[in-house]
Amino acid sequence: MLDASRNGRGTSATTLERIAQCPFRHFLQEGLGVRPIEEGQQDADVWLDALTKGRELHALFARVMRTMRNEKRRPGVKRDLGTLLAWGRERLARLKADMPPPSDEVYSRESREFLDDLESFLAAECDGRHGSDPVGFEVAFGIPLDRADGEPLASATPLALDLGDTRTLELHGWIDRINRLGAGDYEVVDYKTGGYWRDSWKGEFAGGRRLQHAIYGVAAVPLLKAADPKARVTRGRYLFPSVKGRGRSKSIATPSNAKLVAVLRDLADVVGTGAFVSADDEDTCTFCEFAAACHPEAVEGTARKLENPDNTALEPYRRLRSHD
Ligand code: SF4
Repeated sequence: MLDASRNGRGTSATTLERIAQCPFRHFLQEGLGVRPIEEGQQDADVWLDALTKGRELHALFARVMRTMRNEKRRPGVKRDLGTLLAWGRERLARLKADMPPPSDEVYSRESREFLDDLESFLAAECDGRHGSDPVGFEVAFGIPLDRADGEPLASATPLALDLGDTRTLELHGWIDRINRLGAGDYEVVDYKTGGYWRDSWKGEFAGGRRLQHAIYGVAAVPLLKAADPKARVTRGRYLFPSVKGRGRSKSIATPSNAKLVAVLRDLADVVGTGAFVSADDEDTCTFCEFAAACHPEAVEGTARKLENPDNTALEPYRRLRSHD
């Protein structure tokens, strides 16, 4: 019932990455219908959660870049910073009205950080660190076109990946950005608005926990081919444009379809065989909203189970983690 390669329900790269982080959390959420406990009191030191802040920044990044595309020009700090910051202030005021911050002090601090992130984005954009020939922003695939913001490359058709044995994974999502690198050569870009830690960004698939570059790389090709029949995507790039991310980036060459399918099959098998093992690293648990429904020593328990060769139920999970 929960295996998206058999139940015909669409899914996204983000959902699949979350399943790979902790299959048990997915079972709690989707199998048992557990919902996180609402916090009774607002945190006195926090206003915008990471999700809201990230969503707002993504929307403003796309807005300024679409404006550049419409005006057929590159951005300039002197010319465009004032406008971008004004848009940012406008959004902050709207959010303040919808979700009152816990205090004026928190509002001022978070607003300043938010506007600094916009400035950091524009500075990197102006010196070409994000790519000099962008062709799409927040490009939707498998999403109704009335939600695609009029993006020319968007398509309502989902990406259907054949996993073999009559199993198909139907995927939808938004590609933050597509850059042209040269004739017929493109990269898909994903903005990460948090910090960058080099050790967390090793490897190609991170045991199934990093899939966006690979899935978006496959999804972008048919979208691009409508205008450029020779289009191919040769790499994915994660950009860290906020102040915390210090403008870092991580590029990963586009993996072969066969490699991606092997990872997705193993991930689908983890779900399909019903062995919903807990996360195997503490970092995943740090901000988990389901911790109240979980065993306090879940990570240690997973390590013990994985070490036990008689525990064959975890074979799909072991295979998944072998895709580094
Ligand atoms: S606390 Fe950790 S192991 Fe438990 S559900 Fe959350 S991520 Fe999974």
